[in-house]
Amino acid sequence: MTDQINLNSTKAKSSQQAMEWEDKYGAHNYHPLPVVLDRGKGLELWDIEGKRYFDFLSAYSAVNQGHCHPKIVDALTEQAQKLTLTSRAFYNSRLGEFEKLITEMLGYDKVLAMNSGAEANETALKLARKWGYMVKGIPENKAKIVAVSNNFHGRTLGVISASTEQSSTHGFGPFIEGFVIIPYDDVPALEEALQDPNVCAFWVEPIQGEAGVIIPEQGYLTKAKAACDKYKVLLMADEVQTGMCRTGKMLACDHELVRPDVLILGKALSGGIMPVSAVLADDEVMLTIKPGEHGSTFGGNPLACAVGIASLQVLVEENLADNAHRMGKIFRAKMEEIKTKSPMVRTVRGKGLLNAVEIEPMNGLTAWDVCLNLKKNGLLAKPTRQDTIRFAPPLIISETQMLECCHIIEESIITIL
Ligand code: PLP
Repeated sequence: MTDQINLNSTKAKSSQQAMEWEDKYGAHNYHPLPVVLDRGKGLELWDIEGKRYFDFLSAYSAVNQGHCHPKIVDALTEQAQKLTLTSRAFYNSRLGEFEKLITEMLGYDKVLAMNSGAEANETALKLARKWGYMVKGIPENKAKIVAVSNNFHGRTLGVISASTEQSSTHGFGPFIEGFVIIPYDDVPALEEALQDPNVCAFWVEPIQGEAGVIIPEQGYLTKAKAACDKYKVLLMADEVQTGMCRTGKMLACDHELVRPDVLILGKALSGGIMPVSAVLADDEVMLTIKPGEHGSTFGGNPLACAVGIASLQVLVEENLADNAHRMGKIFRAKMEEIKTKSPMVRTVRGKGLLNAVEIEPMNGLTAWDVCLNLKKNGLLAKPTRQDTIRFAPPLIISETQMLECCHIIEESIITIL
């Protein structure tokens, strides 16, 4: 077989060819917008033919620092030439440095480094159960974790066992046991669920990103934390999407000055350069897991640590939380203006630069068609739920760029009808 294969395989010659190859040779587990991206810098992306786009998705909020941030790329290339992977069978010279920086920055005793967001969530689930047995005294195999409807924590089997989304779960059972699902943003339902002495954790996104940027009532997290404390239950915040300055603060929980017992991070922890995720907690929780009980070959590798350190530095050095806050306000004000001009804009909501515009389907046109029109006009965004377009540009966006982008969005929504 290998005789007939050209091992010096050449790049796709056109966007059309690249799409055909993905369609023919790749699994069909995504439904991408028809654009083939080849290059990125800051807020901008270019396709194979050289057409430029403004990125308003940021790889689902992984590229908060902007595409190919020079400081993070430098950290990557420098470390890549020195040492990339040793496994955790040995110490490496960058892991402790990364662990010290992130725990000091975010105020936790310890961190456990992983790779993807889903893996970090799996880690949190295991930590919660272990803590439940060892510290709270839950009888063996009886631990329960309270999760909420419309959650999104990734795609692994453990994580989807708590999902209420058909597309995540249908055809993938049987699922793991031990989840109790309550409505999101419902404190009385939480209070009731936590009374079960076998509950070890409440697992929640401070803002539900994938569900369509659903923002709970102000005070929800504060009340949830108080209820968790009252019943000796861990508050586990999944900030994989909302963390790393996306919502105008380092963490979305910071808006309510809530400190989760278990903090789950991913995505922009690497500025989108490579998969890096982490779980943070204090010793009482983290030290319940002993050597050999959890891990990953790549978790905490020196390359990821070098990238993680640079990514954290960029967030602070470039004041990206403040910029997200300021630019988010401008964005929402502009979208509200468009709402007065187009019946297709139903609602606008968001925090910092995690925003959503709900589209009223009209004349057979949906949010998907609006995204195709945006693409034609040089801006990339995608519907998250049927009628909702998420707008989440890299946090380095300037005011001039933001105004130009809002103009493109206005044109695209108004001219489509
Ligand atoms: N948790 C949240 C809140 C997310 O938004 C996502 C991805 O969108 C994940 C977890 C999963 O992250 P990953 O795709 O890196 O596994």
